[in-house]
Parts: sequence; structure tokens; C-alpha cells
Amino acid sequence: MILAENLSHQYGSRLALSNVNFEVKAGEIFGLLGPNGGGKSTLFRILSTMMVPTGGRAEVAGHDVARDPAAVRRAIGVVFQTQSLDKALTVAENLCAQGHLYGLSGPKLRDRIAQVIERLGLADRRNDIVETLSGGLKRRVEIAKGLLHRPVVLLMDEASTGLDPGARRELWQYVEELRSREGVTILLTTHILDEADRCDRLALLHQGRVVAEGTPAHLRSRIGGDVVVLEAGDVAELARRIETRFGLKPSLVDGMLRVEIANGHRFITEVVEAFPGAIDSVGLHKPTLEDVFIRETGALIE
Ligand code: ADP
Ligand code: MG
Repeated sequence: MILAENLSHQYGSRLALSNVNFEVKAGEIFGLLGPNGGGKSTLFRILSTMMVPTGGRAEVAGHDVARDPAAVRRAIGVVFQTQSLDKALTVAENLCAQGHLYGLSGPKLRDRIAQVIERLGLADRRNDIVETLSGGLKRRVEIAKGLLHRPVVLLMDEASTGLDPGARRELWQYVEELRSREGVTILLTTHILDEADRCDRLALLHQGRVVAEGTPAHLRSRIGGDVVVLEAGDVAELARRIETRFGLKPSLVDGMLRVEIANGHRFITEVVEAFPGAIDSVGLHKPTLEDVFIRETGALIE
């Protein structure tokens, strides 16, 4: 349903995307996870036909984004990172204006508005001025707007940015329902780990490159065992001592030492006993997508 082939983009001399390849199947929820500046919005702009890539190609719903942008636009609904609603108008008025942009009017437009309003649980808000709505409700109106012309693909750029955890969960319920009830294919970008974990598949984007791709479970399984994180006054010295004693090579990320190891709880006991007083704090967790990202890039996402 969505295809990127050696997709690259340069803003002047700055390379924002470099040879990106991925494919999204019909009915999938596909996530692009990466830190700020990773290239997510650039990719989003290309897929939504707002910008022509400087290299490679992309297809949405069988249409080339550069050669046939009009066909792509009919197939996609778009939710931008920044809000696009007219705050002085009501929910219904915003949807009406959007319908006119797509050449909808009369009873057909009324029906469509009634449907998306129902779908996104906005029925009791239809005559509220957008300005008065909470962040979560505004996002739902944005999605309703994106769905008004019944696209087969929904593209969302950091759609849950600024939402509290409750509103984010609710947004996800709607996204999952859209996929399961209407078969809409969804591509979203995010820098939020929880959100990425809910996608069917992910591409991890760092400095314009895809550094890993797969289901969240598959990506995590690349890390064997547990992740142990150690804080110390002298991390470099502790790293040397761990390497000598345990034959492990800890990595230094964000001022802390990290060790990927099976049976991490046993290692914790051993390392604390081996170097009394040298360790300030110890943590153990099961691998997260952040750990996968760190392993591939040495950098943090959030
Ligand atoms: P993300 O959405 O993941 O934060 P972006 O796609 O916005 O990443 O940015 C990717 C890179 O491209 C960054 O280095 C950013 O500074 C640069 N960039 C983004 N938009 C522009 C622009 N309009 N002009 C020049 N550089 C840009
Ligand atoms: Mg962005």
C-alpha cells in the first residue's frame, strides 16, 4: 500500500533522508520511530505529496507520489504535526470546509460529516467551537477531517504530541478501530516508545537512515537477555574493571554504563560484590525499543 524505494531528500546541502526503503502492507499500522531531526516529517511530507524527493521514489495506493500526486491525495488522509483546524469555527464547520475542499457538498457531505463525527466519538461536540476543546478532542477532530473523503491510507505525523497519556490511549483506540473495522492502512511517525510498541511494524529512523525494521517484538528480540544500567562516579574506570573481570564490554550512553546480558539479576549481584563502593546505582530491565535504538546508533530517542 505504501512503498519507499531508495528514498532520499536533501535540503540544500543537508541530507535529511538517505536511501530509505520500506513497504507497508494493506491494513497495517506502520510506525516510523526516531528522535527529533531523524527525518520523520521529511518522509511524511514526501508521502503526502507536499514535497518531491530529491532521490528515489515512493508509491501510495499504487500511485507514484511525484508523478501522480492528485491520485495519491485522493487516497490519503493526512494529520499534521501542527494543528490545522480553524479554532474560531465549530467542529462541524471545520469538517464542512474540509469537505468543500474535496468537492463534497449537500446531503453527501452531511452524511459523511455525520459518519466521521460518529466514528470519532464527537457527536455531542459537533457544535462546539474548536478553541474550547481539549487537546485530545482537537486531535480527534483533525483525524475526522483527514477521514472525511474516505481515504484508504491515513498518514499521521506525531499526532499524539502534546496529549496527556489518557488522551493518547484514547487516540490509539480510535486508530486501532479504524484499522480493524474499516481496513484503513495507517502510517504514523512518533518519538514516543509506548506508541511505537503498539504498531504492527516499525522502521527506526536515525539521521535520515533506517537503522532497523521489524515488529516491535522482533526488534526487541535482537537484544539477548536483560539490560543492566550502572551509574558510577568514574564510569570509565568501572567499564575497564568490568571488562577485565567479566569479559564484557559495557557501552557508555548518557553518562551511564549499559550491559546486555542473560540473567542480569545474577550479574548485578556479582558486579556489586566485585567492586564495593564503586557503583552508585544499578538498574535492570527487559529490552525496550529504546535499547534497540541505542544498540543501532549509540544515541537515545527521547
Ligand atoms: P523529524 O521530523 O524526525 O524531527 P525532520 O524531517 O523535520 O525530522 O528533519 C530532518 C532533518 O532535516 C533535520 O536535520 C532538519 O534540521 C532538516 N530539515 C527539516 N526541514 C528542513 C527545511 N525546511 N530546510 C532545511 N532543513 C530542514
Ligand atoms: Mg517532525
